[in-house]
Amino acid sequence: MAESTTQRTISKIQEKIDRGEVVILTAQEICDRVRNDETIELRDVDVVTTATSALMSGTYAVLSFKVAEPDTFTKAEKVWINTVPAQVGPCPNERIGILDLIILGTEQSKIDPGYGAGDLFRDLVLGKEVQVEIQTDDGQNLTATTTLKEIPHAMLHASRNAFKNYLAFVNPGKKEVTTIFHSDKMKGNYEEMTFCGCGELNPIENDPELKTIGIGTKVLINGAQGFVTGLGTRSSVDKPNLTGIADMHQMDPEFMGGFSTGHGPDIITTWAVAIPVLDRQMLTHILKTDEQIPLKVVDVHSRIPISEVTYGDVWNNTNHEVKFNKKACKKCDACHVEGICPVKAVHSDPDTGVQFDRPRCFNCGLCVSRCKGESFSADLGSIELEGVDHKVPVTLRQSDRVAALKAARNLKKQIQKGQFKITAPVGKISFPDRS
Ligand code: SF4
Ligand code: SF4
Repeated sequence: MAESTTQRTISKIQEKIDRGEVVILTAQEICDRVRNDETIELRDVDVVTTATSALMSGTYAVLSFKVAEPDTFTKAEKVWINTVPAQVGPCPNERIGILDLIILGTEQSKIDPGYGAGDLFRDLVLGKEVQVEIQTDDGQNLTATTTLKEIPHAMLHASRNAFKNYLAFVNPGKKEVTTIFHSDKMKGNYEEMTFCGCGELNPIENDPELKTIGIGTKVLINGAQGFVTGLGTRSSVDKPNLTGIADMHQMDPEFMGGFSTGHGPDIITTWAVAIPVLDRQMLTHILKTDEQIPLKVVDVHSRIPISEVTYGDVWNNTNHEVKFNKKACKKCDACHVEGICPVKAVHSDPDTGVQFDRPRCFNCGLCVSRCKGESFSADLGSIELEGVDHKVPVTLRQSDRVAALKAARNLKKQIQKGQFKITAPVGKISFPDRS
């Protein structure tokens, strides 16, 4: 049982961890207890592990590596890796044969619209060899190959990650619409709903006052130990998000990758954050279950709110994991899922039929409504909206609760084994005063 004290500090909690006396629960474990009508006091928990796995457009990589002997070329002007464009710089690296590059998570291959920077980062983390094309300022076209092992500096940066949950989207118009919030055309007349946010597992939802999440807080980004560096872009007191950094060499490919939207590639990123429970006020937030966490439903065109439901409406009594049954495949002339699966986890082969790449699947659920047979199954839930004469089915989730839960469990194990030390932030995150 956790020690009862009104003066908890992060360092005292880490001392308890070192003594093996700590009580660590994932956010889901503690919320399951609340749903079972258990009363949870401060003495019952020391640390809660939280996580989110979702599309996080504000993700980019900084890579620096050697591609040629010194003086082979003066400066690189344009660079592509696996045909994905990179920004050259910030350092010019004149005549040294080394590239410094920034690759934005939303970049798209110049030849394959289905391949983006998120796929490239995952391929690198998987250890695959990648092709580098360089156009130099003196007119040379050079090529090279490399792997992550040969890239000494490969850091993933977040400019807008780990949002405090997000929104749901519907299309009230008559015409279908192309949007970043869908991977197929989004049907009109409220025929479907998409959403993002891991609800009760979400890190900032569990520490909305940012009492323990601050500058320098250690976190896991795609399984690698990294750090929070501050407040993310477009943050507000109600809707904060974080910036952060982690080393790609330590990352786990199962928590990352590309995700195609209606407007091109986006990127999946997974954060796991340990929340030391310092006081009763923090516990109040931690004890909020999905059904107490609001989810605004907005018009996908204007983003004007239409209604408000809760994360309980989309995560409770639904299937978080999508299942595949090859026997139920109708062997359509052209598989309707292969082209719209946002992570390319489905491949149709003339000889072997439809193949499903389970580790690659993000559990978004889009295949369930787009498959012409019953090969894919999951109950994604449906929502009642005032003034709409039918229940609106959820057809796409841009968050993977299965991956988030796995990340939260991994973090819990690492803390228990002493592989992840909890430290106090070196600086408090404060919101800019623009008044
Ligand atoms: S759409 Fe469904 S039923 Fe048709 S080939 Fe693809 S998986 Fe099989
Ligand atoms: S749930 Fe279906 S559409 Fe979504 S990633 Fe998995 S296989 Fe692809």
